[in-house]
Amino acid sequence: MHSRRKSMRPVSQRRLVRTIVPSDSARLLLVRLQFEPPTAMTARIVVAAHLLICLPGCVSGPADVAVADAVELTRAEPHAPVQASIDVQHYAIDIELRPAERAIAAVCTLRFHAQGRTLDQVSLDLAGLTVERVTDGAGAELGFVHADDELVVMLAEPLAPGDVAEIRVEYGGSPRKGLWFAGDAGGAPTHVFTQGECEDAHWWFPCVDEPGDRATTELCVTMPAHWTSVAAGELIESVTTAGTRRDRWRMPTPHPTYLTTLVAGAFEEHRTEWDGIPLRFLAPAQWAGRLESSLAATAAALEFLSEVTGRRYPYSKYSQACVQNFPFGGMENISATTLAVEALSDERGRRDSDPTELVVHEAAHQWFGDLLTCADWSHVWLNEGFATYLTMLFAERTLGQDAFRTAVRDALDEYTAGDRGANRRPLVWSVYKDPLDLFFGGHTYQGGAVRLHHLRFVLGDEAFFRGLRIYVGENAGRGVVTDDLAAAMEEASGVNLGPFFEQWFYSPGYPEFETRWRYDAGRQRVLLSVNQVQALERGTPAAFSMPVLVEVKTATGTSSHRLAIDQRRHLFEIPSETEPEWVRFDKYGWIPCRHSTEKELSEWLAIAASDDDVNGRRDAVRALGAALADEGSRADVLAPLLSILAGDSSAAVRVAAAAELAQGGAGCIEPLAESARSDAAATVRVAALGSLEAFGRRAAVRGTRKQREALTAIANEVFEARFSWDTMGAAAGLVAAVYGDKAFEWIVGVITLESPNGELRANLAAQLARLDDPRVPGVLLDLALQESEPPLARIAAARGLARFARGSRRARDELTKLLSTANGKLRQETVQLLAALMDEEDPELTQALSAHYESSVSPRERRAIEASFAKR
Ligand SMILES: [Zn+2]
Repeated sequence: MHSRRKSMRPVSQRRLVRTIVPSDSARLLLVRLQFEPPTAMTARIVVAAHLLICLPGCVSGPADVAVADAVELTRAEPHAPVQASIDVQHYAIDIELRPAERAIAAVCTLRFHAQGRTLDQVSLDLAGLTVERVTDGAGAELGFVHADDELVVMLAEPLAPGDVAEIRVEYGGSPRKGLWFAGDAGGAPTHVFTQGECEDAHWWFPCVDEPGDRATTELCVTMPAHWTSVAAGELIESVTTAGTRRDRWRMPTPHPTYLTTLVAGAFEEHRTEWDGIPLRFLAPAQWAGRLESSLAATAAALEFLSEVTGRRYPYSKYSQACVQNFPFGGMENISATTLAVEALSDERGRRDSDPTELVVHEAAHQWFGDLLTCADWSHVWLNEGFATYLTMLFAERTLGQDAFRTAVRDALDEYTAGDRGANRRPLVWSVYKDPLDLFFGGHTYQGGAVRLHHLRFVLGDEAFFRGLRIYVGENAGRGVVTDDLAAAMEEASGVNLGPFFEQWFYSPGYPEFETRWRYDAGRQRVLLSVNQVQALERGTPAAFSMPVLVEVKTATGTSSHRLAIDQRRHLFEIPSETEPEWVRFDKYGWIPCRHSTEKELSEWLAIAASDDDVNGRRDAVRALGAALADEGSRADVLAPLLSILAGDSSAAVRVAAAAELAQGGAGCIEPLAESARSDAAATVRVAALGSLEAFGRRAAVRGTRKQREALTAIANEVFEARFSWDTMGAAAGLVAAVYGDKAFEWIVGVITLESPNGELRANLAAQLARLDDPRVPGVLLDLALQESEPPLARIAAARGLARFARGSRRARDELTKLLSTANGKLRQETVQLLAALMDEEDPELTQALSAHYESSVSPRERRAIEASFAKR
């Protein structure tokens, strides 16, 4: 699963000349922008803006509303692996989709055997649907009780362990989750998708909804004749009769229920192939034109993954179906990934956010997650940590070391930020309310990936990649636990990895290092002190043990030293004939840790200029930025930072330089403007514009009109160049910085412009929300409530509206209305925004969130509400 959100829609070929004049001055630049005219829908937003709708700023008073006390502030419980009494071998699901009613009518036949003991009844998971009839393999009617999401079927004859039986369940209704109707047009859905992870398959078919039970599947879908379907495995039959199409899919590889999938709807398709494997990309027509370009990495990903795992792509086809209102970025259903349509970006959107990462992540899951599945959720890092690290390895192969190491470091920063305080826990963890709770805290994805990266360092590439192939080869088609990986890596390396896995996977936390060094010229030694300073909270080890790579660079050469750390304090002596230019601890960033160090400015300058480790340069740039604030050192660091901004080979380093130069004085304006106009990377352009904003805010207060005009000229030029949607949004931010509330007309004048999935409007809504103009809440409200608006824009508008909601009863009430939106991501965002407002005593909000808590079937929404109630 991938949580990331993406963007996209084609930019019109029609062009219109627009003139944008910030209200501050009639003499400001007249800029011609070539864009399509506003659509009726977007025009409506602007009309609303000009109606000067503004929300009264009344603060809520006491209201006569009883505070609901529905929110269950219980503790998460440990979950032991489930010992099911049956082992399902095969599911045959025959499902009729009734889109007009948002309902299904289905028959599910399960073939299974008893395990452990003799059974006279069988218990299945099934929620939210009505069971009509249950029969056995011979067609005999069976008694059943369906209550509390459990279907208990009385068998006609006792079933001894190992005996095989069949149950046929006729059922139907309107699924509340698991199977979703989406893409409404004229009141009727245009497509259907399922989402089983973590345990939502039993909301659309009766099953043993555990990741440890693997079965083959056959899925027969009846749907409108103009619809197309995708499911696991191979399409073995497709029959169209009067108004109806019936597709039959068969998946011969056993897999858990959460990977069972059905996507069906009015899709357009792009077909290609990799090495004889058919590749199918599907999306609603509006997005179909971007399927090929957005999913272009698919074949290369399958090639790479087949090579690195030592096992060719294991299924008969690979499809990626893009659907609307998908709750995550993507889901690795077996041989048939589902993606959010926002993954389909145009060129501008891809410059902001490359969908390749998502494509490779879900492809990697076809091995790690689908072919080898975590046996229970406590080991889910084996799914997500591998998918995350394999995606980085693909970047290493295709983009090089800088991109790879940047990704590893970014993941490390996310992990260390998430694994703190009350959220500290080991990677292997069984304590949760819903297994989805394990997914989004930095541990499972990023924490898993950086530990695999460290294991690669400990074992070396040869043993690590051999171990990877052994792990895949020996466990294909099985449920896996962390010890299976340890065994494979031990087999490959001959190293006892018990202590390694105990420390990194069953113990919480990570080392926090403080290091210093000095040169002892008399003894020709570098004295390096290494201290672990992590607090011993929640069982965090006082001293982690690991090897570390230290690099000593002198004028005559570079030496690398692999040192062993196993104490809280070390003082290492490293021979060096001359005083080093730098000493780099944990060169190349192999350790899952935080590291702080103090260095002379000269050392940071040397690292920034020529370290071949991109993260060394990034850290050095930040240190140089801190020196910019000091009058005494400013002259020494300004020129190097400007040179790095213009010339470092890594976009991540240039981003860091652009950010630091915000405090570099007026001489930085033109170099930052040049980066904003012409850097190859949108991230650098955005960072440069962000720093120019700082100059803009200063010019707004004490600058001259000429200075303001010069900065606005840069913003207009960048906006007009339309390099990427985020770049354009950042340009609007610069206008807002210079003109404050007077930028309202400027932004409203361009908010009508179309972008593929509303990402420009999302950017502009975020900029509008920073203004204090009283018309802003009205515009944001109109945007947030507009069902026809792209979710990205509505979410940004809701976020902006939340800024005003603290002081406005009406803004809070309007935001509360969004709790009933059909768009899952917008609803999730709304819950989080309202939960954050729960600081204050507010009976209406308390009741609204309590009521939503009762009705919500989303674990993430429920966790956000619980957290808000817990902190009151
Ligand atoms: Zn994933």
